[in-house]
Amino acid sequence: MSADNRRLSLRFTVLVGIVSVLAIGAYVVWTLCVQDGFAREKALVEARTLNLEMQASWDYIDASQDAINYNSDGTYDFKHIYCSVAGKNIAQRFTNQADGYEIRFARENPRSGIDAPDDFEQAAIEAFRTSDTTEFYDITEWEGESVFRYASALEIKNNCLQCHGTPVGEKDETGYFKEGMAMGDLAGITSIIVPLNTYNNEAQTRIAQGVIFFLLLAAATILVVRFGLRKWVIGPLNELNEQLRCENKEQQNFLAMVSHELRTPLSSIIAFVDLWDDEQSDQTIQEKQLVREIKENSRTLLDLINNTIDTAKLEAGEFGLYFDEVDLIDVIQSVTSALGPLAHKKRITITKHVDPNTPIIVSDASALNKILTNIIANAVKYSPEETTVSIRAFPEGNNVRITVTDEGPGISPEQQKRIFSRYKRVAGSSVSGSGLGLYLAKSLTEQLGGDILLDSVVGKGSMFSVELPQDGRLVSKSGEEE
Ligand code: ADP
Repeated sequence: MSADNRRLSLRFTVLVGIVSVLAIGAYVVWTLCVQDGFAREKALVEARTLNLEMQASWDYIDASQDAINYNSDGTYDFKHIYCSVAGKNIAQRFTNQADGYEIRFARENPRSGIDAPDDFEQAAIEAFRTSDTTEFYDITEWEGESVFRYASALEIKNNCLQCHGTPVGEKDETGYFKEGMAMGDLAGITSIIVPLNTYNNEAQTRIAQGVIFFLLLAAATILVVRFGLRKWVIGPLNELNEQLRCENKEQQNFLAMVSHELRTPLSSIIAFVDLWDDEQSDQTIQEKQLVREIKENSRTLLDLINNTIDTAKLEAGEFGLYFDEVDLIDVIQSVTSALGPLAHKKRITITKHVDPNTPIIVSDASALNKILTNIIANAVKYSPEETTVSIRAFPEGNNVRITVTDEGPGISPEQQKRIFSRYKRVAGSSVSGSGLGLYLAKSLTEQLGGDILLDSVVGKGSMFSVELPQDGRLVSKSGEEE
């Protein structure tokens, strides 16, 4: 897998990871938020069931009083197994056996002290007395634990009157004084405690299961999508890339070959025209003009062909660099001499200033010649007539800098981003060109371990700065020493 593909896979994995963490976080928060309501619902159902069971035992004992108290010979013998005694005993036994649960009965003015209501039960009694409600419940703290407390109203029914009715103060069968209560009065409450730890443990288990599920889902998604990416996206894209690369290389090779084939006859034409021109002493002005046009156009064509061949070599990694000592004065002189006729034609003045402190650098003179030729030729090509192109060279830290400043049309910030790319020209340019010059110049400068910077203002001019290390061998991206 290439570095790009690995990066894509990693980005995707990180993305799925982030989404999964967010989903897990949302799930945990959501579960915790609904947990209280969920526990309350379940505990309420449980408390109601227990309450019904207690009521049923109470009613059963009440209905069985005759069977309990009459002996087989028909004599009445009170056995003291009446509803409240039986109910409270059953509740006590249940409380003792069921871990964390508690069922008891409470009332105001209890006959026995243990039935005195606590704060919750007192609040329930108040609620039953002052409203029609017959249930009272909440989640509260109980002996340091979070529990669900439930209270249900116990009303005086017909058979309760025997012990709790009138006349007030008369002793009932059990030996207590009657309270003078009437049907429907509040006799007391059934008070039930349901522990919540089972539900909390359930919630924790649910959260753990959910987290595991999300993690497995995320892992499965990553595996499936990475597999899918590799098989259906990256694989075919790589093949397509490879195919395009091959086609591009073939085109480059073809271009380089054609350029090569063109260069030899063109060089001969230039040589023959030069020879012929030297031998002619009696040319008319018109003939001289014609010869000059042929020479200039042939040179432009030769430059274009050379740039095309150099670009093809550079991209194929076949552009060998040969590092040696280079005197910038010589290189600048050679380039400006070659471009002299072009500048002369447009009456452009080329000024040169090499700072005396500029050191001899270690670089590739031929590559540097190509770089400066392209930049200075552009400055001449794109500047209006009778302007000045200034070339300066000076040391800067461990580098040297060569600046080429012109008074041309300038380049807009948007165009500045494009013009160093292959075949990119400023739209609407009236001067002919291939769009390869700056691409080649920048690529070669980088190969030499340097960089090209551009400072330009539309309507004012441009300054190209070539920054080169004093010893290119130390930082060059490729190349050999001579
Ligand atoms: P070419 O000159 O062959 O078109 P280059 O790569 O050398 O290709 O330049 C790219 C474009 O940048 C040119 O088409 C031109 O529009 C613009 N350019 C380059 N140098 C200058 C300059 N000194 N002044 C204004 N425009 C320039």
